[in-house]
Order: sequence, then structure tokens, then C-alpha cells
Amino acid sequence: MKIAERVPLKLKNQFASDNYAGICPEALKAMEDVSAGFANSYGDDLHTDRACNLLRDFFETDCQVFFVFNGTAANSLALASLCQSYHSIICPESAHIETDECGAVEFFSNGTKVLLVPGLDGKIELAAAEHAITRRTDIHYPKPKVLSITQSTELGTIYSVEEMNAVGALADKFDMKLHVDGARFANAVASLQVAPREISWQAGVDVLTFGGTKNGLAVGEAVVFFDARLAREFDYRCKQAGQLASKMRFLSAPWSGMLADGALLRYAAHANDCARGLAAGLGEIAGIEVVYPCQANAVFVRMPDPLIEALRQRGWHFYTFIGSGLARFMCSWSTCQADIDALVSDARQLAAAL
Ligand SMILES: *Cc1c(COP(=O)(O)O)cnc(C)c1O
Repeated sequence: MKIAERVPLKLKNQFASDNYAGICPEALKAMEDVSAGFANSYGDDLHTDRACNLLRDFFETDCQVFFVFNGTAANSLALASLCQSYHSIICPESAHIETDECGAVEFFSNGTKVLLVPGLDGKIELAAAEHAITRRTDIHYPKPKVLSITQSTELGTIYSVEEMNAVGALADKFDMKLHVDGARFANAVASLQVAPREISWQAGVDVLTFGGTKNGLAVGEAVVFFDARLAREFDYRCKQAGQLASKMRFLSAPWSGMLADGALLRYAAHANDCARGLAAGLGEIAGIEVVYPCQANAVFVRMPDPLIEALRQRGWHFYTFIGSGLARFMCSWSTCQADIDALVSDARQLAAAL
């Protein structure tokens, strides 16, 4: 079979994940701009300095910033830098570091144990976290060292400022560090309409892995340390892990393109709006039920398996949670109203024909 017969070279717009989308114009232009001429390599260049400074402006603080290729590396290297091998990291069961990173956190930290606690709608349950922290204090138990949460969560929900402060206070109470997986942090900022500092360092976040890929960059995430002491030798950690880009400007400059005129948050707000519209449209169809509060750019619905199958037959891509009849539709910077209308229209028609 020729490749062209297996996969269409160009998919129609899709809702499988925000990483199906292309590169947004601001990020692409930034890459083109820095491609002209020469620049120092390995991050020792003015484009990278500028991106770091724009991130400092964004957070309104003097943070330490590192650019890596992907979120798995960002999370696991950040967490490894907070932990010794005999420590533990406490996170909700739904955490990407637990479910989707192939044990990278344990690998890069040389065995730090990830301890799971229950959560509601993707958020950590504070009482359960406190129980996991305090149930043992003896030397035989891996010492709890980090709380790790995701903002916005894997289930498309968002921690409010108050909730972030409560998580930060819990970490503080037990002298633990707070890590945030921010693959979709921009969606959270846009949804809450707060200053980024309010749900990061001011809430006690020590390290944020700030997602670029799912928000319109070609590739790359920023690891942001709000406590400079924790960033000590992080550059060596990145290099050893194969995460130090030699042409660093292509990872860093797109951040400048996205931050300089506010495109990052504009696109995140757009993706959030699209998800809200999609949730409203799908929610009106008999047999489809929206299952989590739609607060960011994801819509989770329960629908009959035959409808899932029929939508797939029509060429729609989306994720399903095996066996449970749940489907996830994800909006991105490039989702448009016509895509939403087309999906809702197909779903309505197919549901009626079941
Ligand atoms: C996509 C994602 C990541 C990053 O995944 P990579 O594929 O390693 O870039 C991290 N956390 C969450 C919650 C994600 O959705």
C-alpha cells in the first residue's frame, strides 16, 4: 500500500489533540526571522536571552528558564532536580507523569517513587494528599518531597487561584516543593483571566513546565524555576538527557513571537472558547452527555459506542478512554467555528440515526 492510500496527506481539522494543529503564524515567523544569518549555539545567543526575558516579564519575576524539546523531558527533568532517589512525588491518579510518560520521572530521578492519590475532575484531593504525606514518617517509606499537579488538568478543568493557593499551602506545611505540569498552562491563565504570577510563584509553585507545543509552537516547552537554587546545574541535566538543542534559537525565539504581542494567551482563549461552544453543541444532542466542567480547551463526553464508531467512520479523530464510552475532543489555536459546526452536525445526524 502506498503511504498516500493509508493516511491522507492533509487531514481535515481534527479534535484528537491540540498537538494535531500546525505552527501558528507568530511562532513560524519568529523561526523564519532567526533563521536568517548566524547565531551562537546551545542557547548562548541573544534570541534565547530575549525569550527568557519575555518569560520573566510574563511572570513578573526573575525566574530561571530552560527550553527543552518536549513535555515528558520537561516534567521528568524538573522533578528529578527536586528529588533524591529516596524521595516520593505525590500526584493525582490522572497525572500525565503517571499515565503517559513511560516511567520517565522514575528513570531520570534514579528511582524516586510516584505516589498516587485520588482526585475529583482531574484535581488532587487535598485530604488524600495530606494522608499520603503523613501516614508514614519512618525511614522505611519514601520521603514525600514534591506535590505535582497539572494546570489545566488532564480532564480539562482548572484550579482556581484559591485552589492553587491551597495546594501551595499544603506543600509548604510539609516542607515540600510544588511542581506544575503546565502543558496547557496558557489555557488556564486565559480561562481564569488572572496574571500568570497569581497561579504560579505567588501560589507557591517552585517549578512550572510551561507548554509551547500544544499552544502553537512547532516544538518545545519551557522549564521555569521560580526558586533559582533549584535550577542549579539544570543545564547539565538537560545536556545529559539529550535535551540541549544546539540550534537553541529555534526552540526559544518562537516563545518571543508568542509573548511579544500576547498571541499565546489570545490563542489559548480562542481554544477555550471553541471548547465551550463545542460542549454546548454536543451537550444538546440526545444521548450525549458532557462529563467534566469545560473550563479549558477540552470537551469530555459520554456517548454510545456505536456513535463513537460512526463518527470515526466519518473521518473524525478523537481520543477514547477504553471501555468507558468516554470521548475527548480537544480544541487548539487553529480550531474554527466551521470545524465545530461540522462535528456537531455529524454527531447530531448520526445520533438520530442510531
Ligand atoms: C501533552 C502533555 C505533556 C507533554 O507531552 P510530550 O508528548 O512529552 O510533549 C505533558 N503533560 C500533559 C498534561 C500533556 O497533556
